[in-house]
Amino acid sequence: MQLRPHHILDIISVYGKGIEYKPHPYGHSLHIVAPRLISNLNFKIKLVLDADGICEGCEHLLPDGKCKDVLPQLTPSPSKQAYNDVFDSRLFDELSIMPNTVITIHQFLAAVNEKVPGIEKICTHPKENQQERLHGLVSGLIKLGIREQT
Ligand code: SF4
Repeated sequence: MQLRPHHILDIISVYGKGIEYKPHPYGHSLHIVAPRLISNLNFKIKLVLDADGICEGCEHLLPDGKCKDVLPQLTPSPSKQAYNDVFDSRLFDELSIMPNTVITIHQFLAAVNEKVPGIEKICTHPKENQQERLHGLVSGLIKLGIREQT
């Protein structure tokens, strides 16, 4: 499965906060993909700077694989495609991983764990609380056995 790095971090953060994945009005596949990743850390993924497995079924996914959505929390609202591409490029750079790398979820999260705390400064969405993002990531990594409880 292809996945954008930030979509995985979104999943781990939500998991850490104990929030249930439910079908989204957009019709995308987050609620299907998230439990698959969390229940099998040996799941192999291809990290991409592109539409991914989460985008499947989304009403904003164009036939050419681009996203036509915008970021509603900002005014004016930028293109989500452009936002996502910059967001994930920064994550690839921070993690020293190249796009199209094939890796297990465990390997990816171990690399993320090396950058926690700190990575929340890059992976917090606009209008999202940075400390809450960090808390969700740390809790998710601990729950998955990637990070030791201190
Ligand atoms: S990135 Fe765009 S196409 Fe993909 S799930 Fe989000 S809104 Fe839908």
